[in-house]
Amino acid sequence: MQVVTHKTGWLEVICGPMFSGKSEELIKRIRRAQIAKRRSQIFKHGIDARYDATDIVSHSQQSMPGTAVARAKDILELVDDRTELVAIDEGQFFGDGIVEVANRLANQGKRVIVAGLDLDYRGRSFGPMPALLCSAEYVTKQLAICMTCGDPANFTQRLTGSTDQIVVGAAETYEARCRRHFEPPAEEEEPAGASAGTGS
Ligand code: ADP
Repeated sequence: MQVVTHKTGWLEVICGPMFSGKSEELIKRIRRAQIAKRRSQIFKHGIDARYDATDIVSHSQQSMPGTAVARAKDILELVDDRTELVAIDEGQFFGDGIVEVANRLANQGKRVIVAGLDLDYRGRSFGPMPALLCSAEYVTKQLAICMTCGDPANFTQRLTGSTDQIVVGAAETYEARCRRHFEPPAEEEEPAGASAGTGS
């Protein structure tokens, strides 16, 4: 006989470039869960204080009160046993620890939603996002609008010359671009010997 406990948790990931509506989608899902009277807790990485130090705020100024944390494991310490929905924005800023934290919370029977950039400004996968996507039961990939041609945009174009992977900014620093108009920075030359084989 199959025992259905209705206590199974799961992981949802919302990904896409900047301006694709990830935060709006996250806020929408939290609002609907709150209408259903589900207990929810909302987190974002402390590095992202663009619009507010703690709240989740979308580029369209929708917002939701939250808690800023510095490390993924802080989320585990702050989540109440009774919480049914754990929402995490800017998932790409967390280290790989966020993958274990998200899975652990889902294994406890909670609904976990992580929103984050899947690609960085070079068009390469961003931090823990690939592993989160593989662990997720539900994946939503969003696209923005290309600021050059108006087509759907999968990439985030950095408008400044910095080569740091993390440069927090909004419309003054980044814009959405489609595949045709995305211009990744020139690849840095690998130092001599850096691409030497793995020994096999
Ligand atoms: P994300 O979390 O993916 O960065 P947000 O949810 O914060 O996105 O913001 C989405 C909103 O950004 C859109 O509803 C729209 O009002 C605004 N916006 C600004 N530039 C663009 C763009 N190039 N494409 C789509 N939406 C944009």
